[in-house]
Amino acid sequence: MKDVLNKKARSLHQGAIRAMFDRALGKEGVINLGIGEPDIPTHPDIIQAAYEALNKGLTHYTPNAGFLDFRRAIARSPGIAAAGYDSETEIIVTTGGMGALSNLFFVILEPGDEVLVPDPAWLNYQSQISFADGVPVCVPTEPEQKFAMLPETIKSKITTKTKAIVINNPSNPTGYILTENQLKEIASIAQENDLLVVSDEVYNTLVFDGKMAISIATLPAMKERTITVNSFSKSYAMTGWRVGYAAGPVSIIKKMTFLQENLISCVSSASQEAAKYALARTDIAADICNLYEEKRNLVFNEISSIPGISCLKPEGAFYIFPDIRNLPIDSVQFCERLLDEAGVVCIPGDAFGENGKGFIRISYSNSVSNLEESILRIRNFIETLK
Ligand code: PLP
Repeated sequence: MKDVLNKKARSLHQGAIRAMFDRALGKEGVINLGIGEPDIPTHPDIIQAAYEALNKGLTHYTPNAGFLDFRRAIARSPGIAAAGYDSETEIIVTTGGMGALSNLFFVILEPGDEVLVPDPAWLNYQSQISFADGVPVCVPTEPEQKFAMLPETIKSKITTKTKAIVINNPSNPTGYILTENQLKEIASIAQENDLLVVSDEVYNTLVFDGKMAISIATLPAMKERTITVNSFSKSYAMTGWRVGYAAGPVSIIKKMTFLQENLISCVSSASQEAAKYALARTDIAADICNLYEEKRNLVFNEISSIPGISCLKPEGAFYIFPDIRNLPIDSVQFCERLLDEAGVVCIPGDAFGENGKGFIRISYSNSVSNLEESILRIRNFIETLK
C-alpha cells in the first residue's frame, strides 16, 4: 500500500529520552535515573475516592470542560486562587498537562506563529508547537542565571509573528524556580509586546527550602494574558490517571472546550473525582514534596562532591542538572558510556536544547538505595575518565 501518512505525521519521531530507555532495554541491573515521574504509587485514599465515585455511578461522560465542582476546587487551589479564576468559564480539565498544552497550541496558533521556548526545556513544547503548525523559537539561557530567560534575550527573539512565551516554573530539566522579579520582567515584556504567556506549573507543589513558585497569572494585569497549565501527575503521583487543567481567558478556554469535545469528549470521570479528592488533601502533596526534598538533599550532597562535576542546588521538581563540562567527554558520550559501562541511565542535557550541552539530567525520583548505588557508579565511572 502507498504511504498514507501525512507530512506532519512523517515528521514525528521518538524523543531523546525514550531513545535512552531503548538503549537500556535488555541490559541487566540498570538503574534508571531518566524517569520523569514520581517513583511512589498514588495514595490509597485517592484511589479509594475514585473507587467510591465509580460505585456511586459516576461512570458516564462528564461535561467537556470537566465536572463543575472539580473546576471549583481547582479555582480555589493555593497556587492559582489569588488569580480569581471563574470556574465556569475560565478553567478546563484536561488529560494531564500535556492535554492542556497540546489543546492550547491547536486553538491559538496560525501557521507560522512563533512561540518562545526556553533552551533548555522539557522536550515536548517544541514538538507540540510544531505539530500545531507553529514555530518554536528557542531562547538561549545560561547556567550562571540558573537557566532563566534574560529579558534582553527574550526581546531579541520577538518578531511580528511572536504569539506567546512559554515558561516552566519549577523547571524540568533544571529544577530551578523563577524569582518574582524574573516573572515581573517576563510579564512586562508580554504586556509591552501583547504576547500570551503559557505558564507550565506542573511541578509547583514540589518546591523546597520553604520557597514558592509564584504563578505569573497572579501578577497585576497578567491573568488576561496567561494560560496556566497544571496537572496532578507530579504533585499527587498520579501520572497514569491523566488529569490536569488549563486556566485562562474565557475566549481561549471556550475554544479549548469545543476542541476537547471533538477530540476526546472529556477526561475520565474517576480520574476527575480522584483529583478533586486529592485537592482537599494538601497533606498528601506536602508529604510528596518532603520526600523529594530529602532525596534532593542526598543527591545534591553526593553529586556535588564528585570531582569534575559541579551544580547549584535544585529548588524544586525532582531533577538535578549537573555541569560536566570539565570532564573530557561530552554529555551524549557521557550518558551513553555511563549506561553501557556502569548501568545507569541519565539524560544528556542536549536532549532539552542546544544550551543543555555539557549538562546531564538526573531524576532523583527513585529509591534511596538505588540513588546511593547509582551515584557510586557515577563516581567510579568518572574516575575511569581520568
Ligand atoms: N510539563 C512538564 C515540564 C513536564 O515535565 C511534564 C511531564 O513530564 C508535563 C508538562 C506533562 O505531564 P502530564 O501530562 O503527565 O501532566
